Amino acid sequence: MRLTKIVATLGPTSNTVEAIEQLAKLGVNVCRLNFSHGDYTTHGKVIENIRTVNSRGYNLGIMLDTKGPEVRTGDVEQKIVIEKGDLVLFTGKKSAKKSAMKTVVVDYDKFADDAPHARCIVIDNGAIEFRVEKIAGDNVIAKALDAGTIGSRRHINLPGAHISIPSFTTKDWNDIRFGAEQHVDFIAASFVRTGDDARKLKAFLLKNKSDAMVISKIETPLAVQNIDDIIEASDGIMVARGDLGSEVPFEDVPLIQDEIVAKCRLAAKPVIVATHMLESMIMGPTPTRAEVTDIAHAARLQADSTMLSGETANGKYPFRAVEAMIRVLVRNERIEPHYDLLVTEEHGALVSMDIARRKQALAASVLATELNADAMIVISKHGRTARAVSNCRPLTPIHAFTALPECQRQLMLIWGIIPHVIEFYDNPEKTIEVAIAMLKKQKQIKTGQRLVIVSDARAAKAQVMTIQIRQVA
Ligand code: ATP
Ligand code: MG
Ligand code: MG
Repeated sequence: MRLTKIVATLGPTSNTVEAIEQLAKLGVNVCRLNFSHGDYTTHGKVIENIRTVNSRGYNLGIMLDTKGPEVRTGDVEQKIVIEKGDLVLFTGKKSAKKSAMKTVVVDYDKFADDAPHARCIVIDNGAIEFRVEKIAGDNVIAKALDAGTIGSRRHINLPGAHISIPSFTTKDWNDIRFGAEQHVDFIAASFVRTGDDARKLKAFLLKNKSDAMVISKIETPLAVQNIDDIIEASDGIMVARGDLGSEVPFEDVPLIQDEIVAKCRLAAKPVIVATHMLESMIMGPTPTRAEVTDIAHAARLQADSTMLSGETANGKYPFRAVEAMIRVLVRNERIEPHYDLLVTEEHGALVSMDIARRKQALAASVLATELNADAMIVISKHGRTARAVSNCRPLTPIHAFTALPECQRQLMLIWGIIPHVIEFYDNPEKTIEVAIAMLKKQKQIKTGQRLVIVSDARAAKAQVMTIQIRQVA
């Protein structure tokens, strides 16, 4: 059984029903659609394909990743070949015209205003760097510091400059509305800068009747500065190391990553480690040992999920990449729990419901470990209690029972949880019985095994929170 979840990006090599089913069968938990690429027709079709696969017995979560305030190169028919030392013209779409110089069109018309403030121009997370030489009206002339090629819609970063695009563009709001209509389970917001960005997104989703979880992507120095407020305002975090490593010195990325994961664990918010995890498998059939070590590191940090991008979106070996990731996770992720580290909150006179839930989860996890229980059953209508148990990182399998298929799909992202949907009865005992019967039928548990159950129970006058020890009959 694997504990760390896997998010896989769907793209041209992986978005058919057959490919998605293959990914699901291998063990992918959440599918990511990147709205920096593609149109509504294709994305809508891919969402339909995911639902077809889900109707065959899977519960893949669907994540919409926004384009956000990013700068990219335009579409080209042929890759632009750059030699070291070339002088290259960068120009906005509006002012693009024939030039004798090699020309890179950028999808940002104020590029010439911002570029002079940057330390350099970074293409594709460092594949090629340019030094700005001259600004001529709306055009930037820059010298290539490396050789390489530039394809369609490649990333451009201007480290040190503040891009004057709002955190959500009109395209982003339209895309998010589309996501709400399509009932996606997660919105990954690119280039979030402040906690208020996440709050604005949550309010927008509420207005559009969407319960999607807001996953803030940390990929700028500003977001790193505001990390505490962003974690507080978000339902989860993605450490988007590609752009992050272009915007801050790349040697800072490991420290920032580890600190963000630790903060999320303390705040009980899910965290995804993303980008370049198996980059070499876009072209080759086996991972480099450095990539293996990177995935193992994320697993040992106990991040909720690791993510694949180009490896599954447009790589040559999407399935082998998933298999490789699974092998590394399973081998490296099992860590004996250190529960004492979790007893940290101040005890005020009033213990909030949320803290009570976390304490209950902690006590249940300690109990399951001490008893060497075979499984935990968490009856958790909206998934909150299940997430609290996962946050304690017990090694006992966590079977979460929710009332809603959308909660089940959201729990696919959460460390260690095996999510199920059942009907909830007025009498909590009945719900527990149905849950146990279901696990027995699925051969997940068997007679004589010991269970720790987290559930409400009926007391004389009210429902009360309980932790129970039972033996499977
Ligand atoms: P991001 O910074 O948001 O990750 P990216 O350009 O690196 O952007 P990925 O989602 O990591 O994009 O996917 C890797 C590559 O796969 C993309 O650069 C693109 O070439 C291709 N790709 C991904 N999704 C699609 C899509 N829906 N349609 C076409 N190509 C896609
Ligand atoms: Mg992006
Ligand atoms: Mg990427």
